[in-house]
Amino acid sequence: MIIQLQENVSAQERQDIASALSSISYKGNDVKTQFGDYIICVGKKEFDIRGIGTLPGIKDIHRVSDPYKLVSKKWKVNNTVIDLGDGVTIGDGGFSIMAGPCSIECEEQVDDLINHLKENNVRIMRGGVYKPRSSPYSFRGLGIDGLKMWYEKARAAGIKIITEVMMVEQIEDMLPYADILQVGARNSQNFNLLDALGQVDKPILLKRGVSGTIDELLYAAEYIFSNGNEKIMLCERGIRSYEKAYRNCFDINAIAILKDKTHLPVIADPSHGIGIRAYVEQIALASIMAGADGVIMEAHKVPEKAFSDGQQTLNFRQSSLTIKKMRKTFDLNLAMNSW
Ligand code: PEP
Ligand code: MN
Repeated sequence: MIIQLQENVSAQERQDIASALSSISYKGNDVKTQFGDYIICVGKKEFDIRGIGTLPGIKDIHRVSDPYKLVSKKWKVNNTVIDLGDGVTIGDGGFSIMAGPCSIECEEQVDDLINHLKENNVRIMRGGVYKPRSSPYSFRGLGIDGLKMWYEKARAAGIKIITEVMMVEQIEDMLPYADILQVGARNSQNFNLLDALGQVDKPILLKRGVSGTIDELLYAAEYIFSNGNEKIMLCERGIRSYEKAYRNCFDINAIAILKDKTHLPVIADPSHGIGIRAYVEQIALASIMAGADGVIMEAHKVPEKAFSDGQQTLNFRQSSLTIKKMRKTFDLNLAMNSW
């Protein structure tokens, strides 16, 4: 059960609500976010919701049978919209594209990418400055100085930045320079990191774990929300399977299911999802038909020379074509949805 409190709820009213909850053996967890004051109630007993819902100080009350509550669509019918400012929004019914290299490498590369994005009217650039790499000997990113360099250039071009944060200790330094903080697949259940990201007022893109279930992804999002941050997007990036013909098994089912279960925007990552450049476009288009609110994909002027993930990275010609086809597909899907 979720209780939404009124903005001006008094201490006495809170006390009375707490007493009413304990009288039916429900445990209340206080949650305060950028947008509201909630009590998340967990208990087993059947009771008449009107007995609590009519108490002073309560704005609304919802029964949510899902084990995750705040991220469930069962209480919030309107989809969450992430507003990055300057007219860039995600989840408002439009289609969002985030594109860029796997890793930020140098100034020239950032300039090339920004020009490419501007030519294609893409407003959000992806790139890692802290890279989770399977081998410790691989390129691990330019760090905070790389982010600052990128930020100067992106800001001047009116482009927003999405970049991965790997550790709680990195958050504070990164905050001024990132528009979206990405939680990578390997950190999808790093609960300390999720707790900390719940305490900042910055949109979070949360990736599904390498072998994470859909429920585990929703629980991870609940960590962020229940710590106070409602600005969350979920990302399907493929899961580990027995198949060796591709890098990850992009779970198209997850897109459709997540769109039904949660009010949070759902973003597809076809680059990591299949891990092979030649097929990224097909998976991107399929994810749009499955209901994705946006796509995050890897692009580079010369993918063969990329410091990481070159094998799944599109060159600018491929990227431009994919962007065009994605927009057409999104419009087509939208039109068909009104049939
Ligand atoms: C990335 O976005 O480059 C990345 C490392 O993604 P993931 O966490 O999905 O592997
Ligand atoms: Mn990558």
